Amino acid sequence: MAASRDKPVYSRWLEKQGVPRGAYPEEVCRKAAVPPDSRNCPALEAVKAVVLHHSATESGGAGAFRVFHRLVRGWDDLGYHFVIGNGTHTGDGVLEEGRPLRCRGAHARGANEFSLGVCLVGDFNKGKPTLRQMNTLGLLLGRLMKEYGLSESAIMLHSQVMGSKTECPGRNLTLAMALQSIGLLEEREG
Ligand SMILES: [Zn+2]
Repeated sequence: MAASRDKPVYSRWLEKQGVPRGAYPEEVCRKAAVPPDSRNCPALEAVKAVVLHHSATESGGAGAFRVFHRLVRGWDDLGYHFVIGNGTHTGDGVLEEGRPLRCRGAHARGANEFSLGVCLVGDFNKGKPTLRQMNTLGLLLGRLMKEYGLSESAIMLHSQVMGSKTECPGRNLTLAMALQSIGLLEEREG
C-alpha cells in the first residue's frame, strides 16, 4: 500500500470495518499484511471455477484484506487469489495477487476446493465497479480461462455457489457484466 510508514493505515481501516479501536496496533497489522510463508499451504487440487466477490467495503486492497483475514478471521492468509483495486489503497483497476494459485483459498464455502477467488474492491450493493476494474477483470478472466481450460460456465458469482447465503458480489455486479468484460456475450450473440 502506498502509505507513509507512520500513518496507522491498517488499524484505521480495521476500525472503519467495525473492529474496536486499538484491538490490533498498526505494528501488528503491518506484519500481518506481509504474505506469509505458503510452502505448506493446503493445495488447490484442480481449478474448475472462478468465483467473483466484492469486498463490501468502500476502500481496501490485498494488504488490508490480508490483515483482516489473518487477524480478525484467524485465517492463514488472504482468502482471495486476486484483488482488483478501486483507486483507494491501490490504483483503479490495479490487479494484486493474493493467495498463491497453487494454494486453496478461503473465499466461498463449498467451492474453495476447486475454485479461484477474485475480489473487486467496493460495495456493489451501493456503488458499481469502475470501468477499469471491469477491464482488468475481463483480462484476468480471459487469462485464467485459457490457462485452466475453462468455459464461461466456470465463471460464477459468490451468491451462485451452492449453499451460499450471501448477496456477494452485490446487485451491481452481475454475471452478464463479468462475461461481457471478457467479450463472451458479444461473441456468442454476434
Ligand atoms: Zn464473496
